[in-house]
Amino acid sequence: MKTPANQLCVTLNTGDQIPQLGLGVFKVEDNECERVVLDALEVGYRHIDTAMIYLNEAAVGRAIAASGIPREELFVTTKLWNSDQGSDSAAKALDTSLELLGLDYVDLYLIHWPAPLREKYVETWLDMEKFAAQGLAKAVGVSNFEPEHLEKILDAGSIVPAINQVELHPAFQQRKVRAFGEEKGILTEAWGPLGQGKYELAELPGLNEIAAKHDKTIQQVVLRWHLQEGVIVFPKSVRKERMAENLDVFNFALDAEDMTAMVAMDSGRRVGTHPDDGNW
Ligand code: NAD
Repeated sequence: MKTPANQLCVTLNTGDQIPQLGLGVFKVEDNECERVVLDALEVGYRHIDTAMIYLNEAAVGRAIAASGIPREELFVTTKLWNSDQGSDSAAKALDTSLELLGLDYVDLYLIHWPAPLREKYVETWLDMEKFAAQGLAKAVGVSNFEPEHLEKILDAGSIVPAINQVELHPAFQQRKVRAFGEEKGILTEAWGPLGQGKYELAELPGLNEIAAKHDKTIQQVVLRWHLQEGVIVFPKSVRKERMAENLDVFNFALDAEDMTAMVAMDSGRRVGTHPDDGNW
C-alpha cells in the first residue's frame, strides 16, 4: 500500500507497509458492516481485518467502493477458513473472497487456524505461496499458529509468513510465540486486543492508575501498550465514537514504569480457543 501520511505503519518482510492500528469486524453482521466500515474510514482507519467466516466480506467491499478512497491507500486482510484448506479448495476460497470484497487483490491473506487434526495446513501454506506469486495477495501469513506449526511450514515452504495473528492482550501476552516470530521475521498481530470484553480490563492491577496518569481510557492505554510492544492491532467497535477513541492513541506514550507494570498483568489467561483445538 501507499503509506498514508496520517498512519503509523510498520514494514512487513515483503517490504510493504501495514498501518499498525486498524479495525476488526468479527461478529459485525453483514447488514451493519457497511456502515461500520464507512464510519471507520471516515474517522481515519485505513486497515480492515475481516475473514471469510465472518460472512461480511461483501459489506466490507461495498464500504470500500462507496468510500472512494484509492485502493492503494487501504490495507485489507481476509482469512482462509479451515474447511477450505487443501489444494483443491484454497484457490476457490480466495477467488470467492476477492469477488465478495470486489477487489483484485488483498493486502494480506491468512490461514485462519492451523486446524492440525485436518492435517492440511502445510499443503495449504504452499498454496498461499502461489497466491503471493500470482499477486492475488500482496502478503501471506497465518493465524493462531504455535511455534511447532510455524516450524513445519518454514521447513516445507520457501516464503516466511509475513504475519502470525494470535490472541494477545495484557492478561495473555504470548511472549514465546512473539519471540519465535521475531527470530524468523514474522510480525505479530493481536486478535482480541481488548480481551474481547471477556474480562474487566479495569481489574488488571494498576491499569486504572496508568490511565489516570495519562488522562486516557483504559482501552487507550491497552492499545498504546500493543503499539509500543511492536504489535499490530485492530480493535473491534461498531460505535463511531469508540472507533475515534481507539485511534486517538498517538499523542501520548507509556513510560518504562508503565510498560513494566503492564508486563506484570500477564496471568496466562486465554479467552479463546487453544490453536490445537480449533479444528472446526
Ligand atoms: P476486541 O478485543 O477488539 O474487543 C472487542 C470488544 O471491545 C467489543 O465488545 C467492543 O464493544 C469493545 N470495545 C472496543 N473499543 C472499546 C472502547 N474504546 N471502550 C470500551 N469497549 C470497547 O475483540 P475482537 O473483536 O475479538 O478482536 C479484534 C479483531 O481481531 C476482530 O474483530 C477480528 O478482526 C480479529 N479476530 C481474529 C481472530 C482469529 O482467530 N484470527 C479471532 C478473533 C478476532
